[in-house]
Amino acid sequence: YEAKKHKNSVRLFAPSMQEGYLNRVTLEQNLRQALGKNELYMVYQPQMTHEGVMYGVEALVRWNSKELGIVPPDKFIPVAEASGLMPKLGDFIMKRTLEEMKSFQEEMGFSFQVSLNISIKQFMEANFLEHLTHEIETIKLTNIVLCLEITESLFIEDIEYLLPLLQKIRSMGLSISMDDFGTGYSSLSILRKLPIDELKIDKSFVDTLIEDITAEKMVQNIISIGKNLELAILAEGVETKEQEVKLKRLGCDRFQGYLYAKPLNYEDLKLFVKAQKTVYM
Ligand code: C2E
Ligand code: MG
Ligand code: MG
Ligand code: MG
Repeated sequence: YEAKKHKNSVRLFAPSMQEGYLNRVTLEQNLRQALGKNELYMVYQPQMTHEGVMYGVEALVRWNSKELGIVPPDKFIPVAEASGLMPKLGDFIMKRTLEEMKSFQEEMGFSFQVSLNISIKQFMEANFLEHLTHEIETIKLTNIVLCLEITESLFIEDIEYLLPLLQKIRSMGLSISMDDFGTGYSSLSILRKLPIDELKIDKSFVDTLIEDITAEKMVQNIISIGKNLELAILAEGVETKEQEVKLKRLGCDRFQGYLYAKPLNYEDLKLFVKAQKTVYM
């Protein structure tokens, strides 16, 4: 087993493994067990205001497999979806995040906005919202500010079902962010109808923003669409000051990326917050 020969498990995910060992069946079998083996955990990436103050975090799931090493979510979430494991994984993500936010509140005495990635399948489950509400109540989480990140492919779902659902979510005080915006094929007329709060500019645009005039124009267009619809604009994957300066010039309001912080585990998040000026909510 190639993976076991190395000492540093963080570097185990070599390209050869992706093709060889990490086929769907292997992943599926391991993931099924991972849920019971404490191999999954959450990390939180700070989100910053225009002034450079942290106002929230995005919760991101991690899998450190004893057998396979670190497997990125891009790899195992689609497998979870395809194999019917997503409800269980989604539950874990929701529950663990809310529990850690509760602990954070208790330990630190304040809270901030938490954005949860919700897969389309999870979102379209018949009892998604009841379930979320139930978890919030069970954990006795008061004054939490929750945002749900949903990808653009949601637009192709049944709009008759979607619209009241989104409205209900907002009436409960949660907000909705459109993740990876610009990479899908959403129509502007649908975007206009949907009650959302934020557009997240995909990292791929931010990556090429400096060299590629087309990327810059795309970002400019996304920002102007968002502003016209009175949405907040968040750029993800900001890695350099140069990108930040350009994004600010183009009118971006919120920032997330390695320039500010990598996704942090619970303990590291506390350290980060202690060292920061944070927006109190
Ligand atoms: P996403 O929601 O668009 O998340 C942003 C990804 O960009 C994260 O990768 C994050 O670690 C990474 N990132 C943020 N800033 C930077 C940066 O400055 N440089 C670089 N190189 N990367 C940056 P991650 O955690 O590997 O997640 C990948 C995707 O997997 C996510 O994309 C999301 O679609 C999915 N995912 C992750 N966690 C969850 C989850 O809890 N639930 C669901 N449904 N999907 C998740
Ligand atoms: Mg996201
Ligand atoms: Mg994103
Ligand atoms: Mg993305």
